[in-house]
Amino acid sequence: MKKKFICFILVVAVCALALTACYGDKNYLKDVNAYGFWDNDAATSVAQPSIGQYVRDFLSSPSVDNKPKKVAFIGYDGCRADALINVLATPGWEEGTGDTSPYSGIAELLKTQGAGIYLAYAGGSKGGENEQHTSTAPGWAALTSGEWGIVNGVTDNGMYKSIDYKTFMLEAAIGEFGEKYRSAFAASWQEHFVKTYLSEVEYLRENSEVEKKEINADSSYEEVSAYLDAVSASSTVDMDFKFVKDDAALHEYLLSCVEEGGNNERDVIFGIYEATDHSGHDTGFGNDNYRYIKGFRDEDSRCYQLLRAIYSRPSFENEDWLIIITADHGGIQTWHGGQTLEERTTWIVCNKGVPEKYFSSGYDGYAVSE
Ligand SMILES: [Zn+2]
Repeated sequence: MKKKFICFILVVAVCALALTACYGDKNYLKDVNAYGFWDNDAATSVAQPSIGQYVRDFLSSPSVDNKPKKVAFIGYDGCRADALINVLATPGWEEGTGDTSPYSGIAELLKTQGAGIYLAYAGGSKGGENEQHTSTAPGWAALTSGEWGIVNGVTDNGMYKSIDYKTFMLEAAIGEFGEKYRSAFAASWQEHFVKTYLSEVEYLRENSEVEKKEINADSSYEEVSAYLDAVSASSTVDMDFKFVKDDAALHEYLLSCVEEGGNNERDVIFGIYEATDHSGHDTGFGNDNYRYIKGFRDEDSRCYQLLRAIYSRPSFENEDWLIIITADHGGIQTWHGGQTLEERTTWIVCNKGVPEKYFSSGYDGYAVSE
């Protein structure tokens, strides 16, 4: 009898696991929503393109007290919304007394007056015409262009973004927001430069002395990075495409971008840390994977250092900074790209908060009702 019961439990457990593998956890969004630290709720989750629009609106709005505008857009690749509980669950974190989050970029940014933290989503509307893969290229392209892939051309990895829908980094550099900003996009994934944003690299090159060279997935790191450096240095468009080897190199580069008076100083930066995505693909996405949490803490502590570097700029008090930390997609087991809640649900932390006009309405985890 006992044996039979154990067998029954085993069968149930295996079936539950199999179902989870196929469909994900239907309660995931509800459970994450219940964390209580969000400034919106699941139904008003912010669509990724709205964040891109928010950055544009900030850069085009009149400056306050003539303060120069600056943007730091910081990406945690493949960082799930439930990972944030690792730095925000400790009572007292809001007052800076929580002992698990003294070196958390997310917790640090939330201490800013007016800062906010929000549920968001990737993947467009499931089953709708703007549905897109919860993959890296479509996620960041929606965030930086302010449009879903059906408009900007990137609905999956391996696709070229249309030059008609530029990133806010390029728009900032060419004066679309009134004045010309120095901008940068830095990442360690080759596809960004040889595929997704190749049209923008070419835009810079056309405004440079550099001869066109074909770069693709087969090009070496040295070839691609040297080409991007040459194009960025020579172009009359003041944007830098920076291809780095890993998170450590990305971090060094971003620190140089926020160093006031430094050679690499930029006004608008976008950089992507990869530790969560790498560990997720290796050992699994989610809080039951130690390496995933460690990857998250590693990039979050780097972000903390980056924020401290920004705050310590001599002119910081006389500058108007928009600082956003966000993710391109979530993940389930060791992958992402599909339409489960674990993959679709993302998050945003912003030093100025996100105004309600950027919220969605009637979002059910897969689509909006309007
Ligand atoms: Zn990604």
